[in-house]
Amino acid sequence: MDILQASPGAPLWLKICLALLLTVALANTEACTKGTDATAGAAPKSEFPAATPVPPQVAAPDNAPLPHIDSKRAFQYTREVTAFGPRYMGSENHKNLERYILDHLKGDQVEDDAFTADTVEGKFPVRNIIAKFPGTKDGIIVILGHYDTNYPLRNTGYVGANDGGSSTAILLEYANQLRGKKRDGYSVWLVWTDGEEAVQKWSDTDSLYGARHLAEKWEKDGTLKKIKALMVMDMIGDADLNIDRNATGAPWLLDLIYAAAERLGYQSHFYARQSSIEDDHLPFVKRGVPSADVIDLDYGYNNVFHHTPQDTMDKLSPKSLEIVGDTILETIHMLDQR
Ligand SMILES: [Zn+2]
Repeated sequence: MDILQASPGAPLWLKICLALLLTVALANTEACTKGTDATAGAAPKSEFPAATPVPPQVAAPDNAPLPHIDSKRAFQYTREVTAFGPRYMGSENHKNLERYILDHLKGDQVEDDAFTADTVEGKFPVRNIIAKFPGTKDGIIVILGHYDTNYPLRNTGYVGANDGGSSTAILLEYANQLRGKKRDGYSVWLVWTDGEEAVQKWSDTDSLYGARHLAEKWEKDGTLKKIKALMVMDMIGDADLNIDRNATGAPWLLDLIYAAAERLGYQSHFYARQSSIEDDHLPFVKRGVPSADVIDLDYGYNNVFHHTPQDTMDKLSPKSLEIVGDTILETIHMLDQR
C-alpha cells in the first residue's frame, strides 16, 4: 500500500491515476480470494491450517462432456437378466446368465475367477467374471456388481429384478461405454461377482463368497496395490432412488461420487443420511482398498420389496439406472484427473 500513497502536493492527474490503480488492485485481490475459496471448499478444510495453500482434493470442473449411458438399453438388459428367473448359485438359470454375460463381452479381455464354495448348504461352483478395459495411466479402477440371486428364496418365485438384475445390467452397459480405444486414464475392470447372497442367514462366513475369494486372490498376486478405487453397484434400479452414504466406504471416495452427482444435477438422489451396509466391497475395505458401496437399501416403503417375490421389473426405472450410471462414469473421469 505504501507505494500507492500520494503526497499532498501531488498533481491531480497523478492522484486520479493512483486511485484507479488502487481500485484495480483491490478488485484483483477479491478475484484471487474467491478462486482460493472455491478450491478450499472442495477439500476437508479442517485438515489444513488456514494460511497453507490447499491442494485440490476434487479436480475443478473441466470441459469434458458429461457422460451419458444408454439407459433404455441398460433397462432392457435388466429385463432380459430378470427373465432368466431365479439365478441362485448352482442353478441352471445361473449358468444361462453366465453365458449371456460372456456373450455380451465377446472381443473384450475377459478372465474368470472360478472356485468351489463350501457352504452350510453344501458345495457350489462360484464364478466371478472380470472384463478388463486398459487405460494409459498406471492403476486400476474396479466396478463390482453381483449377478447371483438370493438362495433361500429360490422356490418362491423370487427373480431379483433390482437385487441382482440391476447390478448385472449396469455393468453390461458400462462395458458398452468402455469398449473401443484405449482409455485416456486408469484401466477400468468390471467384475460381475457371484455368491454375494447368503445361502442361509447372513454372516461373515455365509455371504460375499465371490468377493471374499477375489480379494484374497488379488492380495496374493499384488493386484490390490494397483487399485485406485473400487465401487460396488447394488440395487440401483429402484424407481424411487435414494442412495444413503454408506459409511463403510472411504470418505474421500464417497465425497467424489457425491461431487460427480452434483455436477450432473443428480444430488437430490444422494442423501447425506448415513447407513452402514455390508456388501461386496467389505473384503476389499478390510485389505485397505479405497472402496465405496452405492446401494439403495430402501426399496419400497420400509424396504418392503427387498428379498421378496415383489422385487420385479415394475418397481424399477431406466432413469435410476441413468442417474447411477452417469454418476459413476463421471466419478471415473474425476478419478482419472487426480
Ligand atoms: Zn440381496
